Amino acid sequence: MCEQVTILGTNVHSVSQQEALEIIAEFIASGKPHHIITANAEIVYQAYHDQTRRQIINNADLVTADGAGVVWAANYLGQPLPERVTGIDLFHAICRIAGEKQWKIYILGAKQEIIEQAVQNLQTQYPHCSIVGYHNGYFDQQEEEAILNDIKKKQPDVLLVAMGVPKQDDWIITHQKILQVPVAMGVGGCLDVISGKLKRAPQWMQKMSLEWLYRLI
Ligand code: UDP
Repeated sequence: MCEQVTILGTNVHSVSQQEALEIIAEFIASGKPHHIITANAEIVYQAYHDQTRRQIINNADLVTADGAGVVWAANYLGQPLPERVTGIDLFHAICRIAGEKQWKIYILGAKQEIIEQAVQNLQTQYPHCSIVGYHNGYFDQQEEEAILNDIKKKQPDVLLVAMGVPKQDDWIITHQKILQVPVAMGVGGCLDVISGKLKRAPQWMQKMSLEWLYRLI
């Protein structure tokens, strides 16, 4: 597909955000299930110490560099990446073009009031984006059955799972075989940001690759 950089045993694809979106469009057009991971330094570090996690990332169909640390490491290895491609930026970009592309989106994760507010905000910001369903990320086995049936019934093109790392990727891997959603992507704490509950770092900090410092503080 595209070039990869291997950082501590974890493969990250060398793509810009625009290229990632083009790959997503190809995944959707194929109709076959795909798994996308946006990897930050913490994820890569965990994977270094945990073979199972490393395999999960290396088996994903697209792994982007979600974090200054990953971009820095690739530079250090002499294989610079085009740019950071964060989960939140991809989330917004997908919703922005979903209307024109006629993609259907399903969102899973976060607390009930957070997902409700996030979906409301997304519908205001991207009125042409078709969010065909959503559910909070706290459910028992019985509710999970109902969620799986709902997703199967609504046949989204994109499933965004915001249940934190590693839960979200484990959930995607466990259920992708029966769901067959063309694009399933873990999006961590994105709904907290989109709902307005959590603020993103100011633009100047994002530009200086200091978002990690803002989150730490
Ligand atoms: N979350 C969830 N179900 C769970 C655990 C977490 O939906 O069982 C949600 C949580 O409410 C939050 C998101 O996952 O909106 C990200 O959580 P966290 O900040 O712990 O993960 P990270 O972004 O660090 O991966």
